[in-house]
Amino acid sequence: MKSQEIRQQFLDFFQSKGHLIVPSAPIVLKDDPTLMFNNSGMAQFKEYFLGNAVPKSKRIADTQKCLRVSGKHNDLEEVGIDTYHHTMFEMLGNWSFGDYFKKDAIHWAWELLTEVYKIDKDILYVTVFEGSKEENVPFDQEAWDIWKTLISEDRILLGNKKDNFWEMGDQGPCGPCSEIHVDIRSAEEKAKTPGKELVNADHPHVVEIWNNVFMEFNRKADGSLEKLPAQHVDTGMGFERLCMVLQGVQSNYDTDVFMPLIQKIESVTGKQYTIKAANEAEEKTNIAIRVIADHVRAVAFAIADGQLPSNTGAGYVIRRILRRAIRYGFTFLETKEAFIYQLVDTLASQMGASFPEIVSQKALVMNVIKEEENSFLRTLDQGLQLLDNVVKGTEGNEVSGNKAFELYDTFGFPKDLTALILKEKGMAYNEADFDKAMFEQKTRSRAASEVSTDDWTILTEGNTETFVGYDLLVNEVKIT
Ligand code: ATP
Ligand code: MG
Ligand code: MG
Ligand code: MG
Repeated sequence: MKSQEIRQQFLDFFQSKGHLIVPSAPIVLKDDPTLMFNNSGMAQFKEYFLGNAVPKSKRIADTQKCLRVSGKHNDLEEVGIDTYHHTMFEMLGNWSFGDYFKKDAIHWAWELLTEVYKIDKDILYVTVFEGSKEENVPFDQEAWDIWKTLISEDRILLGNKKDNFWEMGDQGPCGPCSEIHVDIRSAEEKAKTPGKELVNADHPHVVEIWNNVFMEFNRKADGSLEKLPAQHVDTGMGFERLCMVLQGVQSNYDTDVFMPLIQKIESVTGKQYTIKAANEAEEKTNIAIRVIADHVRAVAFAIADGQLPSNTGAGYVIRRILRRAIRYGFTFLETKEAFIYQLVDTLASQMGASFPEIVSQKALVMNVIKEEENSFLRTLDQGLQLLDNVVKGTEGNEVSGNKAFELYDTFGFPKDLTALILKEKGMAYNEADFDKAMFEQKTRSRAASEVSTDDWTILTEGNTETFVGYDLLVNEVKIT
């Protein structure tokens, strides 16, 4: 089944259960001081759970563009190294705002996975919150009793507070979760270890696909819990992981979500992606290709949503992601010229039907990426030579923080990049000295009353026939 159909079937299924289908909110949040990027499906509905706004429908479903590269959820370091965490990914979700609760949510999740998508029950595990005495939160007996009518009890596992209890913050709505995990290991692998031991253990073939959160409590300022007057459901399923399962492959990158991008990278760079790397050199090439295929999506969608790369805030995060991709290409695929921008075409033809902004903003996205690539490739070349000299002039394995800062300040070398290059040589830089130099520089620039330029590009109707701009899109999505 093609990814396009998989996404559509999810939405059709929940529409048939009375859900209103809404568009994804932009990946970049403009007005939320607590969050830079949308990192889950529920972010755009936060106000409903807090009771500050009333939803247009009590049942909603969508696919949300998410980015997990900062704050509470930061998967950046895993991306490309593993095969199932992305920077940008789609989270399929269904919500009940004071309407249905555990019974329907669990039954529908199960119906969708086992009857519509026809996933074999014997590769699924589910988890239920075990309860916590210190926190005075009970075991989720209700979820257990519902699950045991659907799946054999030896496939229901107990989960701890970290994995199976969701809280918005120190106070406010919270409740237990039930997760669904898949075990897609080969028969040979399965013979070695029972699947249940690998749930939540970072195994690439025993992965979490769907989280169902049941918001039933309110945590008060004194830490105690009270039952919420209206109970809510918030679910999130990783789309790329679901595609991996349904397409019978063992990595998100082997699905049709990523394969066209990977093929394009292969044809432009002349390097080859191997489904199973035979040696370290192949694995390095694979990682670089995965990093680029992943990062171009994050960067392209962020730019299409109005966030240009820059030196501050969200723009800086986007710039860093793009530079990470450029650097992996430069180092491991030997790409000395801009090429990542060419992938946007592939991305647009593949994702455009579900996310028209990537088509209408294609020219802008390509131009911005190409320019960033050109300028960073120039600095990379100079910076790497400089870093090489610094390393040669260093005794021991600690590079001075001031030198690292100079690279950052003069050559646009992000500190994580310097750290990464040094790490490969078994070295590091002095972080305290780096931070001190950074602080001093900030003080200097503040004194010079430097004004940071505007990072936002407001997309208007003039830019496109179909995309009506960031602000309008936000309003359209606000279904109050
Ligand atoms: P994991 O434990 O695998 O890191 P999570 O528990 O952090 O996932 P949730 O916050 O529960 O994830 O998000 C709901 C779903 O979104 C997950 O079940 C998973 O399928 C998917 N997901 C989470 N993070 C990522 C990511 N970085 N890339 C791709 N899919 C993800
Ligand atoms: Mg996670
Ligand atoms: Mg998890
Ligand atoms: Mg989870």
